[in-house]
Amino acid sequence: MLNIALFGVPGAGKGTQAKLLAERYHLSHISTGELIRNEIKNGTELGKKAKAIIDRGELLDDAIISDMFKSELKKLMNTPGLLFDGYPRTLKQAEIFDAMLKELGLKLDCMLELSLSEEESTARILKRAEIEGRSDDNLQTVKARFDEYRSKTAPIADHYKAAGLYKCLDGTGTIDDVQKRIVAVLENIK
Ligand code: AMP
Repeated sequence: MLNIALFGVPGAGKGTQAKLLAERYHLSHISTGELIRNEIKNGTELGKKAKAIIDRGELLDDAIISDMFKSELKKLMNTPGLLFDGYPRTLKQAEIFDAMLKELGLKLDCMLELSLSEEESTARILKRAEIEGRSDDNLQTVKARFDEYRSKTAPIADHYKAAGLYKCLDGTGTIDDVQKRIVAVLENIK
């Protein structure tokens, strides 16, 4: 089993790369952002509450997102591997996540950061806005998402460095360039 978590600023390419990796290695892709967008699309109570938070560029409550993630993980844990995209995103989530993996008898192989400057990722997000029309892909929300990233998400890198699981690679260039770099890292882990 190959269990990888992708990490990086908003717009670093996590979702795009995750989809390609899931196909290549037959991994199940769990994106908490996608799970929430589905709740919003389906008009659930949770979706209604989450919409305002997402549109402000803020993070959802750790316990709520962790419960949502865990129920998806339980459905998919008997597959050849898992690809975590957008979770964990705070130190509290990292603690919950570590305990959850232990409880379920799973192990993380790598926390992989796709490194990209805020300028480049902002440019990518604004381009994506024209294609996908995500309500949180606008300049004002993107600034708030970066603030959340810097203060709450970036610190979890140290947690996984200490565990010897953190790797960082250059997220610039084409989709293909980045995919090749990721594959080179994963081939050494498998
Ligand atoms: P993403 O698609 O990963 O960029 O996520 C879009 C938005 O969903 C984020 O800006 C947050 O508002 C929310 N979200 C996704 N994953 C998480 C998470 N692990 N913790 C808290 N909020 C999240």
